[in-house]
Amino acid sequence: MLDLHAVCVSSISHGFLQQSPGLKMSFQCSICLDVFTDPVTTPCGHNFCMVCLREFWNSSSHCQCPVCKEETAYKW
Ligand SMILES: [Zn+2]
Ligand SMILES: [Zn+2]
Repeated sequence: MLDLHAVCVSSISHGFLQQSPGLKMSFQCSICLDVFTDPVTTPCGHNFCMVCLREFWNSSSHCQCPVCKEETAYKW
């Protein structure tokens, strides 16, 4: 399985996103609908900006994935 976090970070740092706009969706956060600024991967395999995920979890009592509602014990 691909390590999406590593892929995101290396792609962004190499300017890969500007050269390949078709791949932009793969790096889009489901909360802010923008390209990840500081991507994190939940155990269920979804990706979000670290800030977005923190804000989402701060506004709810459960640490759930905003997409599939799977509970996670992780806190970043
Ligand atoms: Zn975001
Ligand atoms: Zn999920």
